[in-house]
Amino acid sequence: CGIVGYTGTLQVKDILLRGLKRMEYRGYDSAGIAVQTAAGINVKHKVGKVAALANMVDSMDIVGTCGIGHTRWATHGKPSERNAHPHTACANDIAVVHNGIIENFASLREELEGRGHVFSSETDTEVVAHLIEEAYEGDLFGAVRAACNRLAGAYAIAAICEAEPGVIVCARKDSPIVVGQGKTGALVASDIVALIDETRDVVVLEDDTFAKLSCDSATGETSIEYVDMEGNAIQPEIT
Ligand code: GLU
Repeated sequence: CGIVGYTGTLQVKDILLRGLKRMEYRGYDSAGIAVQTAAGINVKHKVGKVAALANMVDSMDIVGTCGIGHTRWATHGKPSERNAHPHTACANDIAVVHNGIIENFASLREELEGRGHVFSSETDTEVVAHLIEEAYEGDLFGAVRAACNRLAGAYAIAAICEAEPGVIVCARKDSPIVVGQGKTGALVASDIVALIDETRDVVVLEDDTFAKLSCDSATGETSIEYVDMEGNAIQPEIT
């Protein structure tokens, strides 16, 4: 239902929670965040309000400047902690949030399970995490594109992986995603309201296009690249 992501120079936990709160008006049943920390990707879920998630993580030491968050409106699998996003694969090396419905998830899941993948939720979304894991060869941007090539249905996706600090990759098909360059970092969200604290200049991703948001940890500089399904660079309009 709601996606938010940030990579930059500020601590990401509060930026994600603030973005999720701004999207509450859309309705949801659970919420979660995934943050790249020095000890790997830290994922936290909570059924119910964003305030309950915020309460839970408030006292937790979740230090990191890149992460993704989600408010879920369950379509496949009941509202529960297990089914809340972000979903992970490969022992938390990859984390994914998703809006929409993957129509061919049942056959993809069977195929992936046949190759030894173990699923931990009942969602359609989790196949995306496992597809990215399989396609990953040191390049999250390419792996997300390869995964999306297998998907039927509607999706807005944001993904991070442990091996690429400061990188968020997002994709869109029939479900909105906006990307923006803020003063302290780059942001992605499914709804413009989640970005307005940070920036007013946004790119509305078109169907079958992908964005890679990166923050250089040495300089703190952020950049955003866009490609189409074939991996060709594109230059979308800023609105
Ligand atoms: N289909 C996904 C699920 O049930 C995403 C739902 C949403 O858009 O929040 O987990």
